Amino acid sequence: MAFADEIDKRRTFAIISHPDAGKTTLTEKLLLFGGAIQLAGEVKAKGERRRARSDWMKVEQERGISVASSVMTFDFEGKTFNLLDTPGHEDFSEDTYRTLSAVDSAVMVLDAAKGIEKQTRKLFEVCRLRDMPITTFINKLDREARDPFELLDEVEQKLALDVTPASWPIGMGRDFLGCYDLIHNQLILFDRGKGASLSQGIKCKGLDDPKLATLLPDYALAKLREDVEMVQELCPPFTLEDYLEGTLTPVFFGSAINNFGVQELLTGLGNVAPKPRPGKAIERSVDPFEDKVSGFVFKIQANMDPKHRDRIAFVRVVSGRFRKGIKLKHIRSGKIMAIHNAQLFLAQDREIAEEAFAGDIIGIPNHGNLRIGDSLTEGETLHFTGIPSFAPEILQKVRSEDPMKAKHLGKALEQLAEEGAARVFKPYLGSDWVVGVVGALQFDVLADRIRTEYQVPVKFESTTLLTAEWVEGEAREIKQFMDQNRASMAIDHTGSPVYLARNSWHLDKAKDDFPSLKFLRTKEEV
Ligand code: GDP
Repeated sequence: MAFADEIDKRRTFAIISHPDAGKTTLTEKLLLFGGAIQLAGEVKAKGERRRARSDWMKVEQERGISVASSVMTFDFEGKTFNLLDTPGHEDFSEDTYRTLSAVDSAVMVLDAAKGIEKQTRKLFEVCRLRDMPITTFINKLDREARDPFELLDEVEQKLALDVTPASWPIGMGRDFLGCYDLIHNQLILFDRGKGASLSQGIKCKGLDDPKLATLLPDYALAKLREDVEMVQELCPPFTLEDYLEGTLTPVFFGSAINNFGVQELLTGLGNVAPKPRPGKAIERSVDPFEDKVSGFVFKIQANMDPKHRDRIAFVRVVSGRFRKGIKLKHIRSGKIMAIHNAQLFLAQDREIAEEAFAGDIIGIPNHGNLRIGDSLTEGETLHFTGIPSFAPEILQKVRSEDPMKAKHLGKALEQLAEEGAARVFKPYLGSDWVVGVVGALQFDVLADRIRTEYQVPVKFESTTLLTAEWVEGEAREIKQFMDQNRASMAIDHTGSPVYLARNSWHLDKAKDDFPSLKFLRTKEEV
């Protein structure tokens, strides 16, 4: 296939939702339709095996949250989809935000009984900042749900987003009969107990097609006609332009657990979701169709497979055709890397990437030289932007419960810091480490991972520290500042100096005493 066609058919997206809306279920079903798995249960079965091996997945199980995120690639109707999974719980939103920097569009899943929830809204705002096109899937129509008009109205009001239904539900809960596909003018009947088999639409010549009367009870058909008429009056028509600008969302109705509406959603994404978009670098905008390969690291994951102590840098390919063995320049260090063992992610499996195209995500195993935000190119100096960095909000001390393992703890913390799982500070004085996170639940996950992946039992203890701020400025002045504040100084995992402020008075004083130094709440990843 020609180079340009390969890029044209890529659809790289993520699913955003509030926990419990059905993201995991929808992901499974998308993979099922994409042929990436034979049975939807397979993802789960594999997941369970992994859980049995790795204790920290227990946190995931116990709390009903999804901690790890991954990439799933599958083909459907001539398109290649890269679905980037994002953790749903708000304490893990850093990872989610970074992942959203690597996709071109998003699917927003809503629970039909609940509508827009807190986390949906938060994630939507991140997408909006990037003008990202959003496709909406209203899930769980097989249960008692809110009136569809009310749901549409809520999306419009709360998110200030125009809505255009792509399908329309017929009944709900026990009386859910199916959907009318407004794009292809077909009726898709809901068949309870169909299990994993796929529902096929019945083509109609519009809502006046006499066939409909034989397929739907009179009351349902009358209501459907009335509803659709109202939709056409109330909702703006779908235009690709508005959708691509992120001001209008097509809305699909369905029931993920029953495989219902999923195929229509996937066809819709194939037809309208954007192909790879240009990448923004400080130097210039980078077109995906450029010959030369470029990309950026948006996520690091250590110990993906407990059997192999590998660390994978997830790279979004921004432009060009990646080939196995290609030499790429690591812009931050200026070093050239020959990439022989990059991986592609096919559902839950990985394989060596022979080639990859703009829009794809490749995983590069490495020993810690690749960091979040790093850019890779065939030589040109480009710094891709837009990977968010977060200020650590809560600071705790961490200590190994086994004093013999203090060194191992240091190593573990360093790796976790590189993953972006936490900020890690080594104070100049004393032997404890200080760890900064955005959400308190992250400490539980960290403790569990350090215990299971590095065999170090650890304890987190609260501190009275107010904040950690990176100190930047002239070397001579930084040294002077450090000499005067030794008890409050630390270095992060990259060796940059950090001021651990005990209270706001201290922080203000430090800033007053050294007006030419910069105190930063976040360290830019680039
Ligand atoms: P996530 O937290 O967003 O990943 O949500 P899950 O996919 O884990 O789903 C949350 C719960 O809703 C699970 O118990 C699912 O079985 C259930 N669920 C998902 N989709 C549907 C659906 O279409 N209908 C019904 N009745 N339940 C669903």
